[in-house]
Amino acid sequence: MKIEIIKADITEIKVDAIVNAANTSLLGGGGVDGAIHRKGGKAILDECIQIRNKKGGCKVGEAVITTAGNLPSQFVIHTVGPVWNGDKEEKKNLLKACYQNSLELAVENKIKTIAIPSISTGIYKFPKDKAAEIAIKTVNDFDKISEIEKVVLVCFDDESFQIYTSLLEKNYKK
Ligand code: ADP
Repeated sequence: MKIEIIKADITEIKVDAIVNAANTSLLGGGGVDGAIHRKGGKAILDECIQIRNKKGGCKVGEAVITTAGNLPSQFVIHTVGPVWNGDKEEKKNLLKACYQNSLELAVENKIKTIAIPSISTGIYKFPKDKAAEIAIKTVNDFDKISEIEKVVLVCFDDESFQIYTSLLEKNYKK
């Protein structure tokens, strides 16, 4: 498995699945969630509503999968990151669960290439350095990672890109 770090708009990436930093309602919101629903179109929202009707949304740390509608990828995996408000250990574990559960769903759906944004570091205010460490470590340690060919960690700003690349270089260069 290859981990790649890029600075990009995740809605423009052509991979099997992109991950959305959603909220528990699954009905769309701001940030990356808004961009995905805007560009992906109604098909994504329709499937999210079906999931809501069946299981009442998505809990923090969990993940669900839908079509990617008009986006270049095939699937969107929606996961709900924790809001950072000082309750640190619990929040870190929940963020880790987002990455783990998204990767689990990817494996279940035979997804080989996946792009993941920096979950919780926008509106949910998770510190970027702590979030980056959890992202890279969780992907790297995932037990079924050999079943995935490529994980693209997508940064949206220069600061995140710098944090991610230096962490990967320092700790995970093989
Ligand atoms: P959260 O509510 O989980 O914090 P946000 O969407 O506000 O979700 O932010 C999560 C991360 O996604 C932030 O680092 C933000 O800069 C980034 N982001 C926002 N829009 C995009 C996009 N179009 N592509 C990739 N990353 C994005």
